[in-house]
Amino acid sequence: MKAMEREVQRVRDAFRSGRSRPLRFRLQQLEALRRMVQEREKDILAALSSDLCKSELNAYSQEVITVLGEIDLMLEKLPEWVTAKPAKKNLLTMLDEAFVQPEPLGVVLIIGAWNYPFVLNIQPLIGAIAAGNAVIIKPSELSENTANILAKLLPQYLDRDLYVVVNGGVPETTELLKQRFDYIFYTGNPAVGRIIMEAAAKHLTPVTLELGGKSPCYIDKDCDLDIACRRIAWGKYMNCGQTCIAPDYILCESSLQNQIVQKIKDTVKEFYGENIKESPDYERIINLRHFKRVLSLLEGQKIAFGGETDEATRYIAPTILTDVNPDTKVMQEEIFGPVLPIVPVKNADEAIEFINAREKPLAIYLFSHNSKLIRRMIDSTSSGGVTANDVIMHFTLSSLPFGGVGSSGMGAYHGQHSFDTFSHQRACLLKSFKGEAANKVRYPPNSQSKVDWAKFFLLKRFSKGKLSLLFLAFLGIVAAVLVKKHQAVLRRRALASWQSWRQW
Ligand code: NAD
Repeated sequence: MKAMEREVQRVRDAFRSGRSRPLRFRLQQLEALRRMVQEREKDILAALSSDLCKSELNAYSQEVITVLGEIDLMLEKLPEWVTAKPAKKNLLTMLDEAFVQPEPLGVVLIIGAWNYPFVLNIQPLIGAIAAGNAVIIKPSELSENTANILAKLLPQYLDRDLYVVVNGGVPETTELLKQRFDYIFYTGNPAVGRIIMEAAAKHLTPVTLELGGKSPCYIDKDCDLDIACRRIAWGKYMNCGQTCIAPDYILCESSLQNQIVQKIKDTVKEFYGENIKESPDYERIINLRHFKRVLSLLEGQKIAFGGETDEATRYIAPTILTDVNPDTKVMQEEIFGPVLPIVPVKNADEAIEFINAREKPLAIYLFSHNSKLIRRMIDSTSSGGVTANDVIMHFTLSSLPFGGVGSSGMGAYHGQHSFDTFSHQRACLLKSFKGEAANKVRYPPNSQSKVDWAKFFLLKRFSKGKLSLLFLAFLGIVAAVLVKKHQAVLRRRALASWQSWRQW
């Protein structure tokens, strides 16, 4: 047996032991995870700083807070979420028990991306533990310091056989993907998303794909432009533009462009000071390959602001491009860097058309005082999520499902959505031995009267309320008696005809 196969088998054996299932165990593991984050905060922040030049404060507010909030929510709500939910019954099941019982899926594979390497691995892990699964985490090799700290810390706090970190690059991930999992949760680019889905299909393994794409941002001329530009600058330049739901590009009327450039320029100065390179709040591009990729997007463009770069430190200044032609390279791929193209459109209708002519994005942002326009844009486009008059913020609400649609992904997580993602909603019906007379309508031999009774039992709709339930129960009994009588009549008739046949 190969090493990777053995590792997955070890985790599967641990899952089969059943110890990940009891609510108490899940809560204990989540508490241990919280302890890990609190006690080893410095190590985690140091790893994030080495990988992405994130300041301690930024790393804490962008990643650690989200993780702590998610754990607290799970600890509070899990007892309620694991409880079986009673299901509606019909006339044929009046005397039985019907409920939906969430159950763990089994062994889950979580493959994380590098841009928020702590939260993108740990937040799905929280959901998977909460749902009672065993987990293998494969962090991104590009953020190797965070990957190493996860591999070091998790076994010190969590069950070592149930929750395992496997580190490595493409060869290791490829080997891992040959194994059978009960669920795969992948965060990363759509090209690798296809590889994941293909590998999952071989074992009929369901997947969540948290992908990316170009998230558009429409600015209506009827809006508070100062606030819009401040919020856009925050969301775009955070983490040096390496955020899956960063506004990728702006759509607006041509006449707004200069004002937008000026206001974002002022905001950048307010946020990062005169010398952006010195700001502890401004991050760097993850590696040289991505640095060169982002630079190549600037070729032939009108740079209205920014554009300074430094290869040695992988610094790219907050940059704005104006009058961008939609056919140029910067509009063909997700930018994933601090470059903000402005594409002029005539009006909101043209913006809607522009968005709908492209792949469904992970997020759509729109800024307007006009609430009817906001509704119209939501109703006539599709995306993983929408925030109006701000950016990024829908991510922070754990009551909202976070995920893509179409090429920006499938499935969603956060809060209860995570718990549901990593659970199977098991349909349970516990029948009583009573009521056999009514059950006869489904036993052979079939007859028109049985079909009529089945129609009555299964198709009849009644309004809610105790009285109607009592009435239903009464009808059920009457129906059962009638079926019994009807069958007695049939039996008597059959007996009479048999006797007359014998006499004859
Ligand atoms: P990445 O290069 O770290 O890849 C992600 C994971 O896929 C890694 O663990 C990596 O080892 C693995 N991988 C890479 N190539 C592989 C291969 N050939 N076979 C198997 N596994 C492979 O990260 P990335 O893809 O550059 O991440 C950036 C993308 O992720 C962007 O498109 C961004 O929008 C998206 N993203 C989405 C979300 C979200 O929540 N929807 C969050 C963060 C990033």
